[in-house]
Amino acid sequence: MHLSSFFMKGRTVNRKTFAKKRTVKYTEKTMNSTNKASIINGKEIALAARERVKAEAASLRSKHGVDPALVVVLVGTNPASKVYVRNKGKACEEAGVRSIQHDLPEETTQAELLLLIARLNADPQVHGILVQLPLPGHIDEHIVLEAISPRKDVDGFHPYNMGRLVAGTPQLVPCTPYGVMRMLEFIGYDLTGKDAVIIGRSNIVGKPMALMLLHKSATVTICHSKTKDLPAKVRAADLVVAAIGREQFVKGGWIKPGAVVIDVGINRTTSGGLVGEVHFDAASQRASFITPVPGGVGPMTIAMLLENTITAARLAIGHKAKA
Ligand code: NAD
Repeated sequence: MHLSSFFMKGRTVNRKTFAKKRTVKYTEKTMNSTNKASIINGKEIALAARERVKAEAASLRSKHGVDPALVVVLVGTNPASKVYVRNKGKACEEAGVRSIQHDLPEETTQAELLLLIARLNADPQVHGILVQLPLPGHIDEHIVLEAISPRKDVDGFHPYNMGRLVAGTPQLVPCTPYGVMRMLEFIGYDLTGKDAVIIGRSNIVGKPMALMLLHKSATVTICHSKTKDLPAKVRAADLVVAAIGREQFVKGGWIKPGAVVIDVGINRTTSGGLVGEVHFDAASQRASFITPVPGGVGPMTIAMLLENTITAARLAIGHKAKA
């Protein structure tokens, strides 16, 4: 059976298959409150999203003759970037999205990269363009990101797409915060009037996250490296989103009992494992819901990249982006 048929109107219907790892809903949780946080299973939610992408890609092919295609450009040999790019290619393949990879040498000039982007912008067979960050130091990241056609900007980093997000008319939005919103939606968390604290103000996570939460009527505080008394701000939060880049930085005692905790962090330990920015074990004793690392926000980011590629393919044939 097609996995997407398991999920109807945000409810898991095949309880037998998913009974063990099913993500509990927020409303269910408050009704049967326990002291330990429920895990928001990003893998499970991402899998359902990827199955939907597969169905949409097939429908674009059969109904419109459009073969959704994502181009990923990698400059240099950054080992982490190579892993991310490989994972993106694999996810595309599994979802029936055509994936084309351009591996350029470290010494590629900015002009050469811009020339490739111009060529990809003009190619009607290419729907999404992603330039893997970080770029080598001699290339200006802002110039490169602005060169990507906003309609093919599947990372959602172009100032046009950022501006549309600010205006409340989003078209292509940054994948990581988009994935977080999808997780909150999945557990049925109503953001109206909630106090949300985001730790981190980057363009790729913190800032777009703040806007997305604001559009859902949360009261948002963005904290950063210069914020005074961060623990006090976190203690007041109904929702905490941690995107700092520092291993287990958020302590369990900072978490307000019953809060929802989203850990965006991906930090590699010396033993090669992955760890987030929240002290998971301690925070789990106080939170109502928490995302694990790995298996939380990470898989959602890739799933949302695939969704954005479908949106870009739809834009190419004159369809409107879904709000
Ligand atoms: P970044 O370095 O661009 O930003 C980090 C932010 O944390 C900055 O705004 C800074 O002000 C803030 N910060 C740093 N020290 C602080 C402190 N002591 N107190 C409060 N704030 C502090 O990082 P980023 O690109 O936003 O990534 C953040 C984390 O999210 C990293 O661990 C990264 O690996 C991870 N990430 C994960 C995904 C995913 O798919 N799961 C995607 C993107 C980033």
